[in-house]
Amino acid sequence: MKFAFDNTYARLPDRFHARVSPAKVREPRVVKVNRALAEVLGLDADELGSAEGAQVLAGNTLPEGAEPIALAYAGHQFGSFVGQLGDGRAILLGEVVGKDGKRRDIQLKGAGRTPFSRGGDGRAAVGPVLREYVVSEAMAALGVPTTRTLAAVTTGEPVHREEVLPGAVLTRVAASHIRVGTFQFFAARGDREALATLASYALSRHYPDAAGSGNDALALLDRVIEAQANLVARWLGVGFIHGVMNTDNTSIAGETIDYGPCAFLDEYNPEKKFSSIDRGGRYAFGNQPRIAQWNMARLAEALLPLLADDKEEAVRVATERVQGFTGLFIAAHEHVLRAKLGLVREEEEDLALAADLLDLLAANGVDYTVFFRRLCAAAADPAADAQVASLFADPGAFRSWAEAWRQRIAREDVARVDDSARASAMRLVNPAFIPRNHRIEALIQAAVLRGDFEPFETLVRVLERPYEDQPEFAYLSEPPQVEERVQHTFCGT
Ligand code: AMP
Ligand code: MG
Repeated sequence: MKFAFDNTYARLPDRFHARVSPAKVREPRVVKVNRALAEVLGLDADELGSAEGAQVLAGNTLPEGAEPIALAYAGHQFGSFVGQLGDGRAILLGEVVGKDGKRRDIQLKGAGRTPFSRGGDGRAAVGPVLREYVVSEAMAALGVPTTRTLAAVTTGEPVHREEVLPGAVLTRVAASHIRVGTFQFFAARGDREALATLASYALSRHYPDAAGSGNDALALLDRVIEAQANLVARWLGVGFIHGVMNTDNTSIAGETIDYGPCAFLDEYNPEKKFSSIDRGGRYAFGNQPRIAQWNMARLAEALLPLLADDKEEAVRVATERVQGFTGLFIAAHEHVLRAKLGLVREEEEDLALAADLLDLLAANGVDYTVFFRRLCAAAADPAADAQVASLFADPGAFRSWAEAWRQRIAREDVARVDDSARASAMRLVNPAFIPRNHRIEALIQAAVLRGDFEPFETLVRVLERPYEDQPEFAYLSEPPQVEERVQHTFCGT
């Protein structure tokens, strides 16, 4: 099996990682290979799906050129600093430059214990692996920056959680696995040299056009803040709740990473949280921009020794940059909301129009995704308003908002965009399908209880084209019935 490995992180100093070997498992079986992604990576999907491929994807045999390592990192978890975390159950095989010229990490998640495992078993259960497969690939198809999933395999071995569950390994593909917590790891140790090495490495790997300013750390901070502001705006656009926005789960490359108790909104509610461990709602839907900014403050703090020679100057620069997150986020969020509403021109009151709408959605318990998809039809033809209004406990509330929306649309450049073109453009940003929590729960149940992976296959396939109506799968676009509602999600680690 040929992977064109070109490993750069493994070349970094020893204190950046630990050399490890994946654990051998009894009976690897491929659940699914992501053919399109394999293609981009220059890998043979048929080979990956074979018995030999299963051995590789489970960590039983190492492909030629792999240099398996576990990465060192620290992180703030729910606001408290933990100085030593690191890859406790994920093993980086190496990096591959794809056909698109992009360098990516290939990592086995659930591949056994490492020096960073602390009390954990280094394993993953099939449920969280299927969840990550479905949600990460859906995010990619939705156009949200994210780590990807190349494959899922079962191990033929049990893992012990609250119950005994089938074990599995997920092959994660990422622009890199450098996190805010990676910088915190070295900052906490006062290791300025490692910080500088990492900052320059990350900048040239992820933001090469920003290199050469003479201050790599500052250039990196700027770019990461911008990337995170954009990322969270995209999350809000599709109704995504990450669930564990700890600094160790915040990617320097600006990708969504670490799909644990993540979930999508059904009815719109900014206070919504699903994660069973997020008791205070720290990572609730509407809190995510604030938390991303908090995480950027932690990155700035870690980089302080590199930002300027003078301490006070470093603090001043860091503070200014972190405060700048607010404006970047607002601009990115406005951009997302305008597109959802079918607006191209920019008017100052657009945000207020959107905010009024979101208040109404929350007050009326309206499904976020269904609403915006139906609004596309209403943009083409006001006769479709009834279908939208019927989603509201108080349909009149929608009707008066729609009046303001139409007056606003009338001020768009009508010669350039006719109503049906506007509706088509809206359908490219307002998905018909999201990975709904009750569907994910159901597919995990089918896999775990009955060994039936058909619901998983179907959902993955439908979510490859989330912006297309697929009438035969309309049931997958529907919100849960009351009895199907998922109240809590779990890390499952
Ligand atoms: P997460 O909640 O997935 O972001 O993980 C937080 C930390 O716990 C990371 O350092 C993980 O590597 C570690 N961890 C999570 N699950 C396990 C496990 N089953 N075995 C060992 N380490 C784990
Ligand atoms: Mg993590």
